[in-house]
Parts: sequence; C-alpha cells; structure tokens
Amino acid sequence: MTGLRVAVMGAAGRMGAETCLAIDAAPDLELAATIGSDGSPTDAKAAGAEVVVDFTRPDVVLDNIRQVLSLGMHSVVGTSGFDDERLAQVRDLQGKAPQLGVVIAPNFALGAALLMRFSREAAAHFESVEIVELHHPDKVDAPSGTAVHTAEEIAKARDGRASPDATVREQPGARGASVAGVAVHSVRLRGLVAHEEVLFGSPGEILTIRHDSLDRSAFMPGVLLAIREVVTRPGLTVGIDELLQNQNH
Ligand code: NAD
Repeated sequence: MTGLRVAVMGAAGRMGAETCLAIDAAPDLELAATIGSDGSPTDAKAAGAEVVVDFTRPDVVLDNIRQVLSLGMHSVVGTSGFDDERLAQVRDLQGKAPQLGVVIAPNFALGAALLMRFSREAAAHFESVEIVELHHPDKVDAPSGTAVHTAEEIAKARDGRASPDATVREQPGARGASVAGVAVHSVRLRGLVAHEEVLFGSPGEILTIRHDSLDRSAFMPGVLLAIREVVTRPGLTVGIDELLQNQNH
C-alpha cells in the first residue's frame, strides 16, 4: 500500500528535519520530497506530493502557500508570523482553490493547543491578563506566533475588555507588546526551548496556565495529525484544537 505523499519545505531546518524523521517513521505517510531554500513547491509537485508541510520563514511562507495551492496541493503550515491580516490573505488564496485544505498552526504541541483552549475559557472571568513567552535566543520573531494567537483568542473571549493598568511613565518596552490589547512579554534566553505562561488575575487570586515544550518531538503528533486531516477538510483551519476535538469523537 502506498501512503499519502508529503513534501517538506525547510527540510534542513530544525523543525523541518524533525518532521522528515516523523514522516519516515509513519507507516501511512511517504516522504516524497525534501525542499530547501534553493527549491520551490514545483519540486514537491514534480515528486507527486499531495501535501506540503512548511517550516520555513515568515517572509517566504505566504508565497509558498500561494504556489502550493496553485499547483493543486494541500498545505500544512507551522511557520510563524500569521496575524489576522495574513490569515485573511491565506483565506483569499484558498478561496481560489476551494477543494484544497490549509492547516496553519502557530503551535503543533498538544499541550499548547490545550493552553489556548483553557485560556479562552478563563479569559472572561478575570480582571487582568498578561502573557509571558520564553524562547531560545536563535528565534528571529517576537512575540512568538503562539503568544500572538493566544492574545487574539483571549481578546475575542473578553470582547476587547482591557486589563487595568495605571502606568503613565514607561521605559520603552517595559510593559511588553500590546497584541489585540493584551500585554505580551518576550524573553530570549540560552537554554530555553519554547515556553508560554498566561497569567490571569482578579482581586485575591491568580491563575497561571503554563506550557513547556522541552523537545521538538513534542510538535510531531500534531504535525502528523494535521497532514492526515488536511486532505479531508477543504478550507482554512487555524490551530490543531479543532482537529483534536474531532479525534475525541
Ligand atoms: P530554521 O531556521 O532551523 O529552519 C528554517 C529552514 O527553512 C532553513 O533550513 C532555511 O534554509 C529554510 N528556508 C528558508 N527559505 C526557504 C524557502 N523559500 N523554501 C524552502 N526552505 C526555505 O527554523 P526552525 O526552528 O525550523 O523554525 C521554522 C519556523 O517554524 C519558524 O517560523 C518557527 O517560528 C516555526 N515554529 C513553529 C512551530 C509550530 O509548532 N508551529 C514550532 C517551532 C517552530
């Protein structure tokens, strides 16, 4: 039996290399092509890929998605940098190929998806909320895609309600970045991998929801789930929460 044929863009990178190993080890998937910065989605098509996984860079990923869809392949994207505006651009691209699926997940770790789900649930019940994300210092973007997505989801759940803050004088950056009105603080420290804390506060109580990715293998069950699911769900799916909920049924 031949498996679902998958190409990996950014295959020589940290996440891409781990993804290639995971696909190789999955009996129902076939690694059709490994593509680096000198290649393009055309190579994936030529190798007969049905799904293209993207772990490249925020500045090239939109163009990759455009090419992948125009060549008739499904797209699974882990590359960060997707705010609402960029997601709208992907929706436009996908609209031109309505039979194809795109899954974009700011974080493929199961625990991170649950952190976002629990944060959405807690968001309406507390007066204050702030996010601290902590990563290795080789990460090129700040805040992390996961933190941006978490902040946007929290803001929606709070209907835009701001946290109280009496600050009138501030060293630039001291209060973090404001993402959808939620303060997000980014730490870059040698020794860290990928970590996120969401702090909720009300008079007399603090709730902290924390997730630690200790190894890139944490992302692989989510990446494989997205590869298997994307071929059956046309349209744009953001995050793996919906895919996990499906699995429970
Ligand atoms: P990395 O720098 O190790 O790898 C990126 C690779 O992409 C490099 O090998 C580079 O040569 C290659 N590349 C650049 N442009 C390309 C192009 N046009 N076509 C093909 N390949 C190209 O980075 P990384 O740590 O593997 O992370 C990659 C991305 O994934 C980042 O945006 C990171 O934030 C994100 N990330 C997402 C998750 C998640 O769960 N969604 C987890 C970790 C990292």
